[in-house]
Amino acid sequence: MNKGLYNSEFEHDSCGAGFICDLNGAKRNDIIHKAIDILIRLEHRGAVSADGKTGDGAGILIEIPHLFFKKVCEFDIPEPKAYAVGMVFLPPKPNQLNYAVEQFEKNITTRGLRVIGWRDVPVDRTYVGKIAAKTEPKIKQVFIDKNRQKLSEFEFSNKLFAARKITEHEILNSNISEKNYFYLPSLSVNTIIYKGLLVPEDINRYYVDLNDKDFTTKLALVHQRFSTNTFPTWDLAQPFRYMCHNGEINTLRGNISQMDTREELFKSDIFGEDIKSMLPIIFRGKSDSASMDMALELLLSTGMSLPQAMMIMVPEAWEKHPTMSEEKKSFYNFFSCIMEPWDGPASIPFTDGNYIGALLDRNGLRPSRYTITKDGLLVMSSEAGVLEIPPENIEMHGRLEPGKMFLVDMNAGRIVNDEEVKNNIINQRPYKKWIHDNLLSLSEIPYTGNPTKIEETDILRRQKVFGYTKEDISTLILPMSEQGKEAVGSMGTDVPLSVFSSKPQLLYNYFKQLFAQVTNPPLDGIREEIVTDISLSIGADSNIFDIKAESCKKLRIENPIISNEDLDKIKFNSHPNFNAYTVPALYQIGSGLNGMEATLEEMIRNVLKAIDKHKNIIIISDRGVDKNFAPVPMLLTCSYLHHSLKRHGKRSKVGIVIESAEPREPHHFAMLFGYGASAINPYLVNETIQQQIEQGHLKIDFHTAVKNFNSAIGKGIVKIMNKIGISTLHSYRGSQIFEALGLRGSFVEKYFTNTVTRISGVGLYEIEKEVFLRHRMAFPNREVEGVLKLNIGGQYRWRRNEEHHMFNPTTVAKLQQAVQQNSYTSYEKYAEMINNQSAQLMTIRGMFEFTEFDPIPIEEVEPWTEIVKRFKTGAMSFGSISKEAHENLAIAMNRLGGKSNSGEGGEDPDRFQKDNNGNLRNSAIKQVASGRFGVSIDYLSNAKEIQIKMAQGAKPGEGGQLPGPKVYPWVAKVRNSTPYVGLISPPPHHDIYSIEDLAQLIYDLKNANREARVNVKLVSEVGVGTVATGVAKAKADVILVSGYDGGTGASPLTSLKHAGLPWELGIAEAQQTLVRNNLRDRIVLECDGQLKTGRDVAIACLLGAEEFGFATAPLVASGCIMMRACHLNTCPVGIATQDPVLRSNFKGTPEHVINFMYFVTQELREIMSKIGFRTINEMVGQSQKLDMKKVIKHYKAKRLDLSKILYKIPTTQNKTLYNTKNQNHGLERVLDLTLVKNAHTAIFRKEPTHLVFPIHNTNRTVGAILSNEINKIHGKNGLPKGTLKIDFYGTSGQSFGAFATKGLELTVYGNCNDYFGKSLSGATLVAKIPEKATFKSEENIIIGNVALYGAVYGEAYINGVAGERFCVRNSGARSVVEGIGDHGCEYMTGGVAVILGKIGRNFAAGMSGGIAYIYSGAGDFDEKNFNMEMIDFEPMTDKDFEQLKTLLEKHLLYTNSNIAKTILSDWEKTSKNFIKIMPTDYKIALERIEKEKTLAVS
Ligand code: SF4
Repeated sequence: MNKGLYNSEFEHDSCGAGFICDLNGAKRNDIIHKAIDILIRLEHRGAVSADGKTGDGAGILIEIPHLFFKKVCEFDIPEPKAYAVGMVFLPPKPNQLNYAVEQFEKNITTRGLRVIGWRDVPVDRTYVGKIAAKTEPKIKQVFIDKNRQKLSEFEFSNKLFAARKITEHEILNSNISEKNYFYLPSLSVNTIIYKGLLVPEDINRYYVDLNDKDFTTKLALVHQRFSTNTFPTWDLAQPFRYMCHNGEINTLRGNISQMDTREELFKSDIFGEDIKSMLPIIFRGKSDSASMDMALELLLSTGMSLPQAMMIMVPEAWEKHPTMSEEKKSFYNFFSCIMEPWDGPASIPFTDGNYIGALLDRNGLRPSRYTITKDGLLVMSSEAGVLEIPPENIEMHGRLEPGKMFLVDMNAGRIVNDEEVKNNIINQRPYKKWIHDNLLSLSEIPYTGNPTKIEETDILRRQKVFGYTKEDISTLILPMSEQGKEAVGSMGTDVPLSVFSSKPQLLYNYFKQLFAQVTNPPLDGIREEIVTDISLSIGADSNIFDIKAESCKKLRIENPIISNEDLDKIKFNSHPNFNAYTVPALYQIGSGLNGMEATLEEMIRNVLKAIDKHKNIIIISDRGVDKNFAPVPMLLTCSYLHHSLKRHGKRSKVGIVIESAEPREPHHFAMLFGYGASAINPYLVNETIQQQIEQGHLKIDFHTAVKNFNSAIGKGIVKIMNKIGISTLHSYRGSQIFEALGLRGSFVEKYFTNTVTRISGVGLYEIEKEVFLRHRMAFPNREVEGVLKLNIGGQYRWRRNEEHHMFNPTTVAKLQQAVQQNSYTSYEKYAEMINNQSAQLMTIRGMFEFTEFDPIPIEEVEPWTEIVKRFKTGAMSFGSISKEAHENLAIAMNRLGGKSNSGEGGEDPDRFQKDNNGNLRNSAIKQVASGRFGVSIDYLSNAKEIQIKMAQGAKPGEGGQLPGPKVYPWVAKVRNSTPYVGLISPPPHHDIYSIEDLAQLIYDLKNANREARVNVKLVSEVGVGTVATGVAKAKADVILVSGYDGGTGASPLTSLKHAGLPWELGIAEAQQTLVRNNLRDRIVLECDGQLKTGRDVAIACLLGAEEFGFATAPLVASGCIMMRACHLNTCPVGIATQDPVLRSNFKGTPEHVINFMYFVTQELREIMSKIGFRTINEMVGQSQKLDMKKVIKHYKAKRLDLSKILYKIPTTQNKTLYNTKNQNHGLERVLDLTLVKNAHTAIFRKEPTHLVFPIHNTNRTVGAILSNEINKIHGKNGLPKGTLKIDFYGTSGQSFGAFATKGLELTVYGNCNDYFGKSLSGATLVAKIPEKATFKSEENIIIGNVALYGAVYGEAYINGVAGERFCVRNSGARSVVEGIGDHGCEYMTGGVAVILGKIGRNFAAGMSGGIAYIYSGAGDFDEKNFNMEMIDFEPMTDKDFEQLKTLLEKHLLYTNSNIAKTILSDWEKTSKNFIKIMPTDYKIALERIEKEKTLAVS
């Protein structure tokens, strides 16, 4: 399965989940049908495979239907709870089925239990899709009793658990060919699971049992899966045994790794010797949810209750919680010594039959809504409205809040709220005392002045040994020490990959950070810092089956980047619980490779001996380098120790601390933590800081500078963790979330076990050689007095004699000469230089040569005018580049029939129509990024293609930033923001936290403009192929895979280099995986990232791309001289600047860009004619026409193996390698089409019209098509206010009122789901409780999460409470709401939010514009709920009172709100209970604008 670049390890899934139960404990048949209805109503959250029938999996968990089984079983079964039922998937072949049954029965009887009988589960196979049929198991039920033993439910369950687990291992380790079929969805005394690779509506058609009237239950848990995997298997359908999951566990690798370590210590009276045969607890290759369920099952087997186990696995964000009780913090702190969080977006419904409940992760990223009815039903689901319930029967509507649990005690028949359930658990043991007695904080250890010995070798030599350059000091260390943050750069990176570099590289540079895109969101550690944490505890672990006070005997470190003093405290501590042992990481330079290898082995032997002597902290130190001793790379040492101890079963005994001169940038530290370190002392950085102070380069004191540096690294680590969606270092430690690039497989397997490396290359020999080269530079054979100095570096900017750059003064000049003189000859010289540079080993494509020539005349190759239609210019925002440069690209590409890209930041509507001279300045591609700047119905309606930017090459997993000085008034206008107020986009799209959310956004955009293609931009990394598969199933039309090296915008310098991969890997993986999954024909595959020549395009095409993007090269053609100062607004050639004076220097013309594109096509056509392709379509994916260069002399590159990139999936004749058909977006069923038909008079004649419709949660994105149709006729002005009023009764689906334009007034009588009013473009939206409802609006949720995201203009009146992130990135809408969840008004840049109730935590994080008014009936506000970084409490002015009152009056008018009525009835008094929140920069900017206006008038 893992041939080529595809790796099944990177499959992802997500889904819709829910449950229903009878609070009175009545067993009912209708619960089954209601549960299946819920599943069907969630169908849009799932996916189907290429056969159009195979679902990604659906299932239902219910109570064991005792009466039913009594009726249908041909054998006697005892009373409920006295027996268990197992649902068993078995191999279809009778002989293998019998083998599995025998193994299972043997293990049951060995444990003293008895198999009563087996029952064939009746199924109707006509409902199984073609793909699902290939893996359909034989399904039976097994009935087991206690065999007259006196066993409690807990003991019985554990015996079943042991028998099942041991059988699973035995069968998995056997050689039977159908072993993968064997799986038990459930084996329980209480519950049973029916699930399969089915679409929801087929669940009860396939499993005929579910239709029997005696099939009764008081609870049902349901799940519908959306997987990137198109080889889904039956066992991965959900629910699992105790839970199902909507979201993604981003920490999975770390969790599994730490579970392996934990297993070293397992000792259990309950399981005795069995425990050894049950390991590993987590089977490899299963989904994150399946793995989590297995870990949960283990915790339950220790005797924990289900709610407690959930609390431990998914803790609240307790670390920085200002108001959480000490008792609760102690509980979390205690268990953090035992288990790390299973972290990631997660809504997790769970049940063991006694309890049913759900909990939400600390970030609160998944929707979880519930409704309680007056007749005792409780329904919880990923969406509201999954069951039709009359308003008069509704007791309440609620939602799960971040970190909170919701529980129903089925035996007691009541809801237990979060506080009660958690208080019960935390008071069971004296956790506070246990923490106090055993957990030692590093800050509490007194420093007794045991300084580590001063180094004898001078600092300069040591800096050289460890590869420090002047650039490292000036560009990395100094800014971090001075300002506590990383320096920023721009224009991507075009230096060689480490494996090609002729300069010796640090080992860290051979690894790339993985990052989240689509399936698991990056997080926002800047604005949502309250949920992040980098503290760690060090020390030996303890047995999870024996939880006691000493289980938290650990050393706690708040910031694990530690000073020399802190390291000394650990090294020389005399505390009885902590015993440190220091092991050197040095080898004799003369002994070479053997010496390095021997040192590593000796280290392991010494550490094992130290562990036997009860040392529990191992410090690896590279101090002491000199003429004879060189350092073993610290990353290698740390990882090897970590993995060797695991192999010896001793990893749980120690914590690893690093004392090293090597690490100096966030990537280095993150890698050390990722490979097992618990604290790092970067002593040479500290010395370098001292040196810089002494030399006058740093003007602050040493301690402040070190503190700044350590804190900058801490922030950098949070950023790197957040990139992959992880909030705590505790979960990140040991997680190895990196891909090796160009390291030999055997080397990686030994030293970095389980790290992905797909292009094999260098090993220990070359690594040692690089250490040797650095050492020799520091200690040359013949020293010339005074010549020893640091190299300059040249990683971030071209420097003579330093690292190569593809664009350098010569290539820039040559290209500009070519395009300015329209000289193909000059272009050929440029192309030769670039292509030869490639050949000199800078890129992977440089390693390829064309082969299997089959020449044809060039005249037969399709004309350049056709090919160039496949060309695009890169996404560069108006804001980051000037109007002149931006429009120049658009005009050029429109003339060619290609496409330019607006980039993030909106576009001036003036550009949407042709100019009088025939030029069209409209960008054909309109980008929709996380910031949602300027995204309106007008913007989208004027696109030919809409691109969702999931990640950008320069800094995948991070948001964009536009510094304040570049936000000129004209830029602010199109972004709907405030002039001169800097803009940082959040890294996550707040409407995409998983694959089904992306599907929703694609659906939204397709509704907003049915003619436009929807393009999803990804960045190359391992697993991008599986992500692409998910994106194809989510119905994107185009997938762009960008290389890591592209990008023109501002970016932290270290982000430019360490995340993302070359496009060659990404395109090839995407192509291979899409073809493998039969999805390639429905998708256009595009490539970009430093494409510069026709040869580059030809290689991209042969690897699978059919459209091509260029960014830097057209800018160079337009005059860019690669100063790389784009972020400073000082671009001398008028490109990356808004300064009117500098803009006047812009000399680019559309002809220059056109000439460049023509030249590239011409070169491409020459290659096509040589190798024998008439059209691009013929050429796509024909990787057999590429070969690796035969002669490569470079000592590192000569061992590279690129065969996986060139792997071509064997295809049948009818499988195409390129796009041949359109996606089916299923828009024909959209409610808007009916609305458009009925609103004809309003749309065409502007006649006031009033319509009424029922609405359901399956009616998604209501209002978008309507708005698009109005926009087509009336443009951005829409219709006159209130022209078209539509009342909806029921529950609206996601994205109600998205992009709704002026003149619309849309009212829901009922409730709404997430993304209410997304990018609202002028309409009035109203959500009000239905007339017959009796609940209080201000206590009940009425709209979901992320309401008014990116709203541009319009009004919203919400007669109830909204979920998390209300008004996120709102830039102009005015709204009134009666309460909101956490992170309200986050990143808001304009508009007004009036909140008449509670506001949740972290209000106004990153709010840079607009105003919020908040009301408290009691007149009190908890300041801890506000994020004060950018805002102030401002006094209310008369103008404020006036504006507020008007909004409240409208709220009353539209919703008849009780709370509005109360406030307005006593305005004199109640108005004093409002506070006003305003961003400080916004206030200054408004004053400045006001002053400018006054000056202009005078
Ligand atoms: S010339 Fe202008 S656009 Fe080009 S790299 Fe320099 S600052 Fe950026």
